[in-house]
Amino acid sequence: MTDLMPVIFFGHGNPMNALSKNVYTDGWASIGKTIPRPSAVLALSAHWYIPDCAVTANLIPRTIHDFGGFPRELYQVEYPAPGSPELARRVKDLLAPVSVELDESWGLDHGTWAVLTHVFPGADIPIVQLSIDERQPPLFHYEMGKRLASLREEGVLVIGSGNIVHNLHTYAWGKHEVEPFDWAVRFEKHVRELLVKGDNAQVVAYESFGRDAALSVPTPEHYLPLLYLLGLRKEKEHISFPVQGVDGGSVSMLAVQMG
Ligand code: ZN
Repeated sequence: MTDLMPVIFFGHGNPMNALSKNVYTDGWASIGKTIPRPSAVLALSAHWYIPDCAVTANLIPRTIHDFGGFPRELYQVEYPAPGSPELARRVKDLLAPVSVELDESWGLDHGTWAVLTHVFPGADIPIVQLSIDERQPPLFHYEMGKRLASLREEGVLVIGSGNIVHNLHTYAWGKHEVEPFDWAVRFEKHVRELLVKGDNAQVVAYESFGRDAALSVPTPEHYLPLLYLLGLRKEKEHISFPVQGVDGGSVSMLAVQMG
């Protein structure tokens, strides 16, 4: 009998977190030390947002450096975790009748490896990524999560990697500390309260929250991974926020753990 695995949303923020040691990465590392060791990880990353539904099925997924303008050392990071064609097929079966392509061209993007390099530094747990289909509305992603619920009983850790607030137009690049924008604080607080209440329908309906939502989620890809995880949550299941903070004024680093 395997423990029921938690589901965890990570606010990944700046790709440089892969190389940094800070309050966020320390939080990620301690999550890795406190949860049961999974047999495999299924990751929903904001950075595989494509007009298709696909799952990585390669035995050895490559480390993708999907960003520009960062120091050379970030391009040299490798996260050599194995893949799991077996889990990829299981995900495809669970999501039927939605058609899911078994993909061998993608690999692990920085939404996944910048976080997991801290959570599981040994890179020895098989990882599969599921794309986020950009053609679909928020409710679709929530429903997809529901279909994946049995993975939790099979020792698979399902993670989402994005940011509940992600506005790079207002983000302060650089090292100085800045105060978070009021709209970012309000939106994050509102979503957090809905999560605590278990009001999944409202978290899915975030587009109706007005100006704060429009500024916090100018494009949906960093928010949507959260909706898969809500679909996997059991009713009234314990929820915690093991990492908190707003980076650069407009990127929420909130991590959400359910179970
Ligand atoms: Zn990102």
